[in-house]
Amino acid sequence: MGSDSQNQLSSVTRIPPLLGASKAELTAWVQEQGQPAYRGEQLYQWIYQKGVRSLADITVFPKQWREKIADIPIGRSTLYYRSVAPDETVKYLLKLEDGLIIETVGIPSENRLTVCVSSQVGCPMACDFCATGKGGFKRNLAAREIVDQVLTIQEDFKRRVSNIVFMGMGEPLLNLKNVLAAVRSLNQDLGIGQRNITISTVGIRERIRQLAEYKMQFTLAVSLHAPNQPLREKLIPTARAYPLPELIAECREYVKITSRRLTFEYILLAGVNDLPSHAAELAQLVRGFQSHINLIPYNPISEADYQRPSRQRIEAFTKLLRQKNIAATIRYSRGLEANAACGQLRAFQAAN
Ligand code: SAH
Repeated sequence: MGSDSQNQLSSVTRIPPLLGASKAELTAWVQEQGQPAYRGEQLYQWIYQKGVRSLADITVFPKQWREKIADIPIGRSTLYYRSVAPDETVKYLLKLEDGLIIETVGIPSENRLTVCVSSQVGCPMACDFCATGKGGFKRNLAAREIVDQVLTIQEDFKRRVSNIVFMGMGEPLLNLKNVLAAVRSLNQDLGIGQRNITISTVGIRERIRQLAEYKMQFTLAVSLHAPNQPLREKLIPTARAYPLPELIAECREYVKITSRRLTFEYILLAGVNDLPSHAAELAQLVRGFQSHINLIPYNPISEADYQRPSRQRIEAFTKLLRQKNIAATIRYSRGLEANAACGQLRAFQAAN
């Protein structure tokens, strides 16, 4: 990162709440409280390594000071609901300070623990096949509310989180400042490598280019879903304001500026965007790109009557792309039975 982006990344935290703050910011805060600097290091350890939920529980702090600061919020959410799918994917509903609920998903495998984080409460993009968009948009999440999702899953699984995907609720590029601040914290404070972080976007005009300037090491995934503009607009109404050739041009620039490979996501909807002609058009669209296509078979939601294509159709589509030398893999979402799969997450307000 250049020094400009460093500055922009580090100047966004307002404390308290303390979560999301860097070691330097926490140290400055304890000094403002009249404490020696080394208490900042302790606070940092207890918040990020031990996942403490209340300052009153930091037993290395002098009792008197602890009592004084007991009510200062760290900024942790409370668990509202938890459900486990047969494939061991765990979905959490987390209640924020203002009573709003967000969803987060933990996806374990033998050598990974991936967290699918939300970046907004709800989503303004209103994609026709996605449950999150059907409920409208409530607000952006603060950086600490993103970090909290990861700490919560780490605590519940009693295992370190290795990978993050910004594929929960919301459009990360509409909340870029907070998302980048969260990436900083996940990387530096929780020790999650930037290369193990993926940010998924449906594409917001000018933002992909803007993001490229940060020269970050994370993976950018772009939700394409259609190989031409008319079909894309039908599926993603907001795409009207951002023609496909422009989106692709920005993606090419992103690859050029960052030297990072880019992932395209393509949801497969039976009879809508999975015909052989669509595969041919898609191959043409991304030709000569340092990219990879993730094909996501549609996960059903109650508000839309799309169908998932048969396995045979999905494989035929993949084969057509590969025949044209396009790197493509099928990504079956996990957590389907717990309504925790891609596109099935929703926001709502807690009853109490
Ligand atoms: N707003 C971001 C991230 C959210 S969703 C984005 O659009 O990329 C992460 C992925 O799940 C996106 O590719 C999204 O299009 C996809 N998705 C949404 N609804 C889905 C559904 N019902 N079935 C399968 N994938 C879905």
